[in-house]
Amino acid sequence: METQTAKLLDGKALAAKIHQELITEISQLQPKIGRPPGLAVLMVGDNPASAAYVRNKEKACAKVGIASFNRHFPKETTQAELETVIQELNQDQRVDGILVQLPLPKHLDSVALLHQIMPEKDADGLHPVNLGKLVRGEPGLRSCTPAGVMRLLDEYSIPVTGKKAIVVGRSILVGKPLALMLLEANATVTIAHSHTKDLKAITKEADILIAAVGRPQLINAEMVNRDAVVVDVGINRVTDTNGKSRLVGDVDFQSIQGVASYITPVPGGVGPMTVAMLLQNTVSSYSRTVDSEQC
Ligand code: NAP
Repeated sequence: METQTAKLLDGKALAAKIHQELITEISQLQPKIGRPPGLAVLMVGDNPASAAYVRNKEKACAKVGIASFNRHFPKETTQAELETVIQELNQDQRVDGILVQLPLPKHLDSVALLHQIMPEKDADGLHPVNLGKLVRGEPGLRSCTPAGVMRLLDEYSIPVTGKKAIVVGRSILVGKPLALMLLEANATVTIAHSHTKDLKAITKEADILIAAVGRPQLINAEMVNRDAVVVDVGINRVTDTNGKSRLVGDVDFQSIQGVASYITPVPGGVGPMTVAMLLQNTVSSYSRTVDSEQC
């Protein structure tokens, strides 16, 4: 069998393109609204990975012209204090998107906090109202990582209708909403998880295989159908024998590259798309403030 090299689904390049589109959109909206769009990211404690993610989001906001209203709280902050801040941000006319950076210290209830965010400002698309709209197929703010995956597939004109899509992972953050988005796009969808028997037999069936597990290189070439489209959502930090750490996904990129038709790199695949979709959700909420003022 002749070998092939899968084409890259370049999330970094597409995210840069989306940033440019957002710059244009904001420049058209800002004269009507009289202020830039605003995003507030709430972080509690000093998790270094979270701090890096928040910095990334802030940089991306600055690049496209979204004002950041980020707040950093000490790890002892109480649930009630955070709920008060969210209520204030809900009322703040300068803020179009609010998100709570996870994970939170153990004494805090992240779901209860999420419920406090106004669905119209739920930039992460994880509020039950927005997830409910996704289930019903109604327009609403969509979860960023799954929306980023769908946008990547669309950008590369990858047909979804009638295709077998297998999503490995069923988290509320990625797997479940992504399965619903693929269903909305008329794929025939299977969701696999930690109790799935014979994962390989299932993944082998996929025209579109999504790995959202959090297990370094769980998916190898033997588990992938020839010409499948492989999307790797996983971000795992591994330490090599030389003591250096690096990021790897949930799929074994090197081996699958010779089997798949398309593949996302890690880093540079889904990660930048997640941030791009966060910015897009913020601008989408912002644009609705024009509509509501003109009503
Ligand atoms: P999660 O909440 O831990 O969920 C992992 C899912 O994988 C669960 O549904 C679990 O099944 C399933 N699973 C675990 N081991 C399995 C196995 N051996 N076989 C099949 N399924 C298995 O993780 P998550 O938040 O969805 O994140 C998944 C990965 O994506 C992580 O690496 C995370 O860092 C990454 N991520 C990346 C981005 C991005 O922007 N690129 C965004 C979010 C997350 P059960 O439900 O049965 O436990």
